[in-house]
Amino acid sequence: MTTALVLFHSNLRLGDNTALARAAAEADAVVPVFILDEKNGRAPGAASRWWLHRSLERLAAALEKTGSPLILRCGDTLAEVAALVSETGAEAVYLQHGYDPGVQEMEEQLHVWGQKNDVAVKRFGGQVLFRPEDISTQEDKPYTVFSPFWRTCLKEPAQGALVRTPKKLARPDSLPASLALDDLALLPEGYDWTGGLSDSFTPGEEAAYEVLDRFIEDGLETYKDDRDRPDLAHSTSRLSPHLRFGEISPRTIWQRVHTAMAERPALERGGEHFLRELGWRDFSYHLLHHFPDLPTRALKPAFDDFPWRSGDADTLTAWQQGQTGFPIVDAGMRQLWQTGWMHNRVRMIVASFLVKELLLHWREGEAWFWDTLVDADPASNTASWQWVAGSGADAAPYFRIFNPVLQGEKFDPAGDYVRRFVPEIADLPDTYIHKPWEAPRDLLDEAGITLGTTYPEPLVDRKEARKRALAAFETIKKDR
Ligand code: FAD
Repeated sequence: MTTALVLFHSNLRLGDNTALARAAAEADAVVPVFILDEKNGRAPGAASRWWLHRSLERLAAALEKTGSPLILRCGDTLAEVAALVSETGAEAVYLQHGYDPGVQEMEEQLHVWGQKNDVAVKRFGGQVLFRPEDISTQEDKPYTVFSPFWRTCLKEPAQGALVRTPKKLARPDSLPASLALDDLALLPEGYDWTGGLSDSFTPGEEAAYEVLDRFIEDGLETYKDDRDRPDLAHSTSRLSPHLRFGEISPRTIWQRVHTAMAERPALERGGEHFLRELGWRDFSYHLLHHFPDLPTRALKPAFDDFPWRSGDADTLTAWQQGQTGFPIVDAGMRQLWQTGWMHNRVRMIVASFLVKELLLHWREGEAWFWDTLVDADPASNTASWQWVAGSGADAAPYFRIFNPVLQGEKFDPAGDYVRRFVPEIADLPDTYIHKPWEAPRDLLDEAGITLGTTYPEPLVDRKEARKRALAAFETIKKDR
């Protein structure tokens, strides 16, 4: 009887999971394993830990039904795999190939260990649509501009058929020991702040499919027009945390969207644009794969000498807590804190505000997002922060500074989004909802607002802040 271990990592699903399906087809018995390895790769932030716990709960329940339960371990991946191989007599380890530098290093170590110990280590795709190692410029270099990257991707062979979900998995005669899920200590100890997260999202594979199908029904047709509107309920899919933890494969999304477009041509416009956004996710992984320093170093080296302000803890705290006095920024930061997620347009606004108006390092913002986002992703988070800061690939130029008032007025025209997350200014008329400091005194009184007491005065004078940002940019401009 042959036994295979299947390592689950960023692929917490049974559907379209090539590693699992191949193990099921090739071995007599399958042992599904999740190892919490906090030292290999970046340890998950607090919101991600909550998601991971809930997602593992669902994965374990689904695997239990197939007949082979999920084995949970904690510690160094290599040491745990070696122990599991010796406990089960497994001849092979199956896993989904990842592009996070820490994960790649771990895979390499496993590969070398496998060769020495006569254990086959088999890696399969599934994390991205287009493998970063397959896509390159005519000069055989990695892409650093999105549009040509995406054009090249679209010339690649069509996405293959989805891999079937195994209904039954044979287990070995004796199962290795497993920790209980609570032993992984992923949920907060003491005060439980996760209520807003569970009110907003349901982790797990089943929910991921429901979210996708609902979005195809309610949001896909208008996606191209509405995707920048944080005030509208179905303007984007909210699939990002499900994708982050691999509860649904990008290929499944690709195939379902294509099927829907073929059946209903009205979906084509929104559908093509939506798939292009999935392309940005692939592009982020492309960058991380080819530039593994992306999380810590500016892609444009001149930005490593940018005169970021440091040591201003109060300003950083005001930004983190949504107390800047700029309603659209505060609404975004509070949405993040309360729900673990923020709309993409607002992510751009709050990030731009941090690195430009406040002149704080993009890594401060990236670290906060890493801790608080349920979709905190090693590739997309860093690539996006560098994009906003002007130091990244295909980046918004540093001198283009978002005006939070105009952005608010354009993308949250009636102020519904601000009113939801900044209720203390909800009674202001629409004209002032994005700029309370301009409201006449009697209107502020009527709305029950005392600036500086019930809602902050603006944290910075925008004109001064803009001048300061552009002057800082001048210092590195010649090296860019
Ligand atoms: P939809 O609009 O429905 O898009 C579908 C999917 O495409 C998303 O789920 C996501 O996987 C992908 N996608 C969409 N836009 C982008 C993008 N610009 N870059 C990469 N992938 C994209 N996304 C993350 O998944 N994790 C992060 O940690 C993350 N950090 C970000 C930080 C900043 C400063 C900014 C500006 C953006 C960040 N993004 C991140 C990208 C984007 O904001 C989110 O992917 C998107 O808001 C998720 O919502 P959605 O699923 O409704 O997106």
